[in-house]
Amino acid sequence: MISCMGKVLRVDLTAGTTAVEKIPDEVYEAVLSGKGLGAWYLYKNIPAGADPLGPDNILGFCSGALTGTGAFMTGRWTVVCKSPLTGGWGDANCGGIFAPAIKQCGYDAIFISGISDKPVYLFCDNKGAEIRDASEYWGLDAVEAEDRLRKDCSGKKIPRIAVIGQSGENLSRISGICNEGGRIAARSGVGAVMGSKRLKAVVLAGSKPIKCADPEAVKAISRELGRKVNKMFVPKGIGGSLALGGIGMGMAPSLPLDGSLTSLIFREWGTPSNTPMAIMSGDGPLKNWGAGPSEVGGMRMALAYNPDKINKIEEAKYHCYSCPLGCGGRVDLSQVAYSEFYETHKPEYETIQAFGALIVSRDLNAVLYINELLNRAGMDTISAGNTVAWAIECYENGILTKEQTDGLELTWGNYEAVIELVRKMIAREGFGNDLADGVKRAAAKYGGEEYAMHVGGQEPGMHDTRNDPQLGIHMVAEPAPGKHTIGMAIQYGAMSLCDICSWAPPATMHAKAEDLEPTETMAMISKANACYSMLFDGIGGCYYAEMMGVHMYKTIEYINAAAGWNYDGDHYMEIGARIQTIRQMFNVKHGYAPSDVKLPDRMQGKPALRTGPLKGVTLKNKEQVAMHWKAFGWDEKTGEPLPETVEKLGINRLMEM
Ligand code: SF4
Repeated sequence: MISCMGKVLRVDLTAGTTAVEKIPDEVYEAVLSGKGLGAWYLYKNIPAGADPLGPDNILGFCSGALTGTGAFMTGRWTVVCKSPLTGGWGDANCGGIFAPAIKQCGYDAIFISGISDKPVYLFCDNKGAEIRDASEYWGLDAVEAEDRLRKDCSGKKIPRIAVIGQSGENLSRISGICNEGGRIAARSGVGAVMGSKRLKAVVLAGSKPIKCADPEAVKAISRELGRKVNKMFVPKGIGGSLALGGIGMGMAPSLPLDGSLTSLIFREWGTPSNTPMAIMSGDGPLKNWGAGPSEVGGMRMALAYNPDKINKIEEAKYHCYSCPLGCGGRVDLSQVAYSEFYETHKPEYETIQAFGALIVSRDLNAVLYINELLNRAGMDTISAGNTVAWAIECYENGILTKEQTDGLELTWGNYEAVIELVRKMIAREGFGNDLADGVKRAAAKYGGEEYAMHVGGQEPGMHDTRNDPQLGIHMVAEPAPGKHTIGMAIQYGAMSLCDICSWAPPATMHAKAEDLEPTETMAMISKANACYSMLFDGIGGCYYAEMMGVHMYKTIEYINAAAGWNYDGDHYMEIGARIQTIRQMFNVKHGYAPSDVKLPDRMQGKPALRTGPLKGVTLKNKEQVAMHWKAFGWDEKTGEPLPETVEKLGINRLMEM
């Protein structure tokens, strides 16, 4: 594939060696790069039963097949490994400028196994790769370590750095890997895998060219997309009205939205735009997934997180590599009296919700401060927020005592106690030590399992499955369960996948009640969502480009132009199905049984909520997941890919390469 480098770097930290491996072209044809390449490599090379924190686990840093070709919004880097949080497939991704830096060193991915006997970092440039001593950086938070390494390693080229903070070093199973001052690839416990290898950072300073089959065609597609994005205009100061939009969306959660609307909202506010809508519509989980809006303050809660408040303290906007949208920003923290930091990244919606309405706090400053604490430590805000919410509910119900919480009054909305608890989780101190490995393990020790929101061991993203049963399917059926980024009804409405894929059903406006029935159409929609999501992960694409829809973001045209191919949407959706099937096979190989993964009762509406837009909703999630598996050609009882499906997708032959 012309747009890929054709090689990966293999590092063995036990032996202290590095080697370059050529990847057959057929592999790129079958799974592209990014998560697809990672799935192929890890399935082949991690032995069944390997300890996720042991030397046999492989940590992969993967760039996308379109990264660096001029295609917009393809600068996401993906980390892959066996997850220490779930024991199954693990991955996380992040924006920034690290993804093209992998390719500029001459590789599509860097795969790291073994365990070093002392802290090290990996340095790569045009000349090759070197394992260097990292003793002086070990113990620093992710931002400090990145700053120091950038200064110490700067030559002709400013290096791009992926690094762990204290949480990864401390093997917290909810830790991630950071770049660009604390932006984090957060999920699956990828940071703990890096910490277990005593690998503090990967520092990249290459400048090799990245090829593209038809750069003019790619430029033309990007020009057109840039024109559309720049034409958009949104009046200032209307963030609060998004809460009213939320009420409307609560009535029709799968309302087909034009992708341009999504892009416009994200360009103006970034993901914080979602918070007021989520609180009022039933999309955002409230009070540890256990309440309707009126029980957490309703509109008062929604307006506490009016995204205009964040825009007012925004110091600068920023873009990931090759992105015309620029949903990121730096915000001022100097006015927050208890903060030792001057600024933080604009918090994502997920973080705001996890430390806002989920714990019944209306304090935006606390969210901003916790955001910076967790970003620097490299801890996943979604997992941490769900775990803290469990602790509060246990405390309120007498399952946890003040002695057990080290004297912290863990009551709803007590953000001061939550800040202290977060500090303890980062330092692995006292009660915080027991929460630093996520909610499943904390509940196994203290009880309160009914309040522990996790799917197959991973804490769920901040979108309520009762509001969107489609999302409920993906939360369970996704090989890295609990993720919110694989598919939603509203996203399907925006994407128009039926216009590129012959078997993808058209999106329709329909009421929530219809979504509750397990139907073949619903299963084909969830299959299409998952396949398109995998395709995007293969090219290094951003989720918000996915949400723009195929008429605005020309995915198929981009791949054909960059790779010099001439395939149609069906072909590319089959690549997505292949990637997803290999990830599912990884779980089966490692004994992480898909049929053991379930939504917690509360997330299924058992019992149903008694107030709000989700009042009375109970899912038929188990039946829906079975139909999703069947649509993929996987066993509908066990979720294991059927031999004929594996054969049809050519996976057996692929694994012999
Ligand atoms: S939309 Fe946001 S996250 Fe996506 S590539 Fe652009 S700046 Fe990065």
